[in-house]
Amino acid sequence: SPILAGKAAFVTGGSRGIGAAIVRRLARDGAAVAFSYAGSQAAALALTTEIEGAGGRALAVQADSADADALRAAIDRAAAQLGRLDILVNNAGVAVMGELDSFRLEDLDRTLDVNVRAVFVAVQAAARHMGQGGRIVNIGSTNAERMPWAGGAVYAMSKAAIVGLTRGLARDLGPRGITINNVQPGPVNTDMNPADGPMAAGMHGLMAIDRHAHPDEIAAMVAYLVGPEAGMVTGGSLLIDGGFAA
Ligand code: NDP
Repeated sequence: SPILAGKAAFVTGGSRGIGAAIVRRLARDGAAVAFSYAGSQAAALALTTEIEGAGGRALAVQADSADADALRAAIDRAAAQLGRLDILVNNAGVAVMGELDSFRLEDLDRTLDVNVRAVFVAVQAAARHMGQGGRIVNIGSTNAERMPWAGGAVYAMSKAAIVGLTRGLARDLGPRGITINNVQPGPVNTDMNPADGPMAAGMHGLMAIDRHAHPDEIAAMVAYLVGPEAGMVTGGSLLIDGGFAA
């Protein structure tokens, strides 16, 4: 039977990009998968239809990660409807770049709310439903290790925060047999960072493997970390960035 048969997962920001690839992969590996989205209802429903059509189980829940009550409610609803919760993937994220002088504090607050605060809120809510062997993966960024351009300080700060949060939470969750790790992608071909965008060539010039990753490549690392063989991997930040930070 598939490796995640009988497991239930919740993925934040599963409607597009890396999150959608993770939802598909976990479903293919046999998990029942609930996921949140902010605004892309049509894409979210299309993904659930696709997964159910392939014989899987999927549930889309609208919840803005910046709204702690909505996020908690989405996780509680997923656990109730799927009957359990074994896996949490904190993928939803925003990237606001801007010049120092004109950077708006509203954008700093929004970045921290979605990229950092929501991760803590979701872990708190999900851990209440998890038993021994639970798995949590955060999607950070190589920009926690290297931010080679002006304008990215706030985004880099948010992803660097996840490094420390993941370390600390590993200590909180370890006694319960739950692991938590931080996957740090480099450029990945999504709406946030298109492989044919104006910034792409500059990014490739900094890399050892000079291309964008496919979202499925990130999903594959997540699949390992949430699987039964990764029980000794916890508190770690794992680069998958084509050598961007090397
Ligand atoms: P996209 O912008 O392509 O997709 C973002 C996804 O997150 C969408 O499903 C979106 O939902 C959801 N989302 C965004 N904000 C919220 C919110 N407030 N509440 C709930 N869901 C939300 O991004 P990527 O797939 O590229 O990025 C995913 C993660 O990977 C992010 O954390 C990002 O920082 C990180 N990352 C991305 C890299 C890249 O090069 N692409 C590199 C390194 C890290 P909706 O469709 O409803 O808007």
